Amino acid sequence: MRKKFKINEIFYSIQGEGANVGMPAIFVRFSGCNQTCAFCDTDHQPFFEYSEQRIREDVENLQKENNCKNIIWTGGEPTLQLEDNMLFYFVNKGYRNYIETNGTGVVPKLMDYITYSPKEGSIVVLKRVDEVRIPISAGMNLPEIENLPKAKNYFISPIDVSDKNIKYCLELIKRNSRWKLSAQMHKLLNIK
Ligand code: SF4
Repeated sequence: MRKKFKINEIFYSIQGEGANVGMPAIFVRFSGCNQTCAFCDTDHQPFFEYSEQRIREDVENLQKENNCKNIIWTGGEPTLQLEDNMLFYFVNKGYRNYIETNGTGVVPKLMDYITYSPKEGSIVVLKRVDEVRIPISAGMNLPEIENLPKAKNYFISPIDVSDKNIKYCLELIKRNSRWKLSAQMHKLLNIK
């Protein structure tokens, strides 16, 4: 029987966070996650069962409508379902592949860019990533950079933009200037 994927949604938008903020992308959101973060703001549980062919068709249609060859594989946790087989097709068609992962699963080798968002207490299998992005709300601890996978960029992402939390995040950055602030632009601009 051919493999089915649990897909929450596939849509075109703009990357709202991190080093690629403002980049147009086709988002493929897988359903389901192996973590239960209290601050999770994604309704990733509902899903449709898609074949690989259906995923290809939806992405290709959005590519034609929007002239965009960037794909962000996200979730939930995309590594629970995503494999190199899927990426092979898109790489051959000239797409660039980005992933947003909690770091607990194996990232397909063909991935162009890895954003790792660590969650407290999870076991991390990644050694090297492109960016680390940590959701923070006032009072939460920030891990030591030395204990994280090597990355080009380390971002603090405020979970809420209350004065108290922004002040807290800025204080963390004062303690170590390798951290940068990454506001969720899509929420501020009310973009999906
Ligand atoms: S790892 Fe991400 S998707 Fe999973 S529960 Fe935590 S915030 Fe939500």
